[in-house]
Amino acid sequence: TRTPVNVTVTGAAGQIGYALLFRIASGHLLGPDVPVRLRLLEIPQAVKAAEGTAMELDDCAFPLLSGIDITDDAKTAFDGVNVALLVGARPRTKGMERGDLLEANGGIFKPQGEAINAGAADDVRVLVVGNPANTNALIAQQHAPDVPAERFTAMTRLDHNRALSQLAKKLGVSVTDIKKLTIWGNHSATQYPDLFRAEVNGQVAAEAVNDQAWLENEFIPTVAKRGAAIIEARGASSAASAANAAIDHVYDWVNGTAEGDWVSMAIPSDGSYGVPEGLISSFPVTVTDGEYSIVQGLEIDEFSRARIDASVAELVEERDAVKALGLI
Ligand code: NDP
Repeated sequence: TRTPVNVTVTGAAGQIGYALLFRIASGHLLGPDVPVRLRLLEIPQAVKAAEGTAMELDDCAFPLLSGIDITDDAKTAFDGVNVALLVGARPRTKGMERGDLLEANGGIFKPQGEAINAGAADDVRVLVVGNPANTNALIAQQHAPDVPAERFTAMTRLDHNRALSQLAKKLGVSVTDIKKLTIWGNHSATQYPDLFRAEVNGQVAAEAVNDQAWLENEFIPTVAKRGAAIIEARGASSAASAANAAIDHVYDWVNGTAEGDWVSMAIPSDGSYGVPEGLISSFPVTVTDGEYSIVQGLEIDEFSRARIDASVAELVEERDAVKALGLI
């Protein structure tokens, strides 16, 4: 029997946590033959709710779930962690300035980075879901100098999946007919879902669409503002789809991407495609043997260049803001 993989989930009592934990425990995060041990990190007021979720997890009698620990202490939560899903964050509330938001999140992601640095397993992989995800990931990473920088990633897979679904609908094809879709930049309204390098049954997706007005005025805004549309319709943030995307992100990072395709992940830039080194920005990536690499050699048209640059500029601003606040 295999040793269980330690999976830590922060904000475990939240909406996304509730949608995420059952799928982790049933084998969807790492695979149907990989036992997991769950560590749930919550703020003290939410520990009781996390205990309730843990009771439900027990009641599922998942064969792969070898144990659950609940804590409000980051050091305990990340001790020996192999996969860290940083979901809990301070969301922007009405009237909150951006500086306040970044500062509040600095107070969460700095100690978590330090705790990961102190106790994580050598093979630790970190996915940040809590917003502003890219910059929160940067904060955690900067406080974990002993962990290889590339282990800190942020989630743009939900944007990726939303784009796949919108495009499939437009063309009347299956999502499996679409390959090589990319989300570039920040997980925010400036993100750029790219159809010029995507393929639909072998044809360039933008050409298959052949409707620049739809691409610019419907597709891109629909994908970028999908979160707000869901809040409007549901009366609550997307949760199950965000959890599903987190599962996809980690599963592919561990198990690899399909031949002839790639996925979108926000990862520390190595300077590829003119994205300043060190920024945690979304790229097209493939994964082999558990290690991702940025797809190289893609030609970037002028329209796409401007969109990528705009989103990257926003990431630079966020980085400079957290620097000015002394958070990194
Ligand atoms: P959710 O579980 O709905 O969301 C958690 C985070 O995920 C938010 O920052 C949210 O950002 C973000 N997110 C990223 N992508 C998406 C998406 N596509 N759709 C929705 N959310 C997305 O929040 P809850 O308020 O239900 O739960 C948060 C939990 O975190 C609470 O239980 C709280 O106690 C806990 N928490 C734990 C901390 C810790 O463990 N140290 C620290 C802070 C909070 P956005 O709001 O911008 O959408």
